[in-house]
Amino acid sequence: MLDTEKIKEKLQSSLSIERYIHTLGVAEEAEKLAKRYGDEELVKKAVYAGLLHDCAKDYPAEMKRRFCKEYHIPVDDIMKKQIDLVHPFLGAEVAKREYGVEDEDILEAIRWHTTGKADMTVLDKIIFIADYIEPNRESFDGLEEARKLAYEDLDKAMKYILESTIEYVKKRNRLLHPYSLEALKFYSGK
Ligand code: FE
Ligand code: FE
Repeated sequence: MLDTEKIKEKLQSSLSIERYIHTLGVAEEAEKLAKRYGDEELVKKAVYAGLLHDCAKDYPAEMKRRFCKEYHIPVDDIMKKQIDLVHPFLGAEVAKREYGVEDEDILEAIRWHTTGKADMTVLDKIIFIADYIEPNRESFDGLEEARKLAYEDLDKAMKYILESTIEYVKKRNRLLHPYSLEALKFYSGK
């Protein structure tokens, strides 16, 4: 696995400047959350997963399709219609192949950072939440509440963020992935 400085260098050349700034914010927030909820090892994994979570997000659509094929990443009908939905799964594969990440916990956290899913690990939840509340985000409705919940209870923060995200997706007439609904169902029952 590359060290964090090398990872940052490499990210700078594959991400837009805005995305790079967002990425640093996610790594910073993930580090703080991991310190709140776990040990040294969790903190280390959180920083790596935070840095790499969007590593494939700025690939052009055609490149996303091509690499999914090449890396045998399943692309379902919803992803076909909204190709950006592959970026977490493609991102995990790119983290493994190009950044040398072998740790499955880190790769899983990258995979589930967009849709969420039922029964996530603490690291999965930290990356999902950090993506939403990172300090470089422009303020929006509900951000402060999500930030507060994140440091009180990860599951409550998951529920809150999933509800807000699903509402946002519906409003914009974008397609909602069934994984997100499964996640909401799971965290609503907690
Ligand atoms: Fe993302
Ligand atoms: Fe992100």
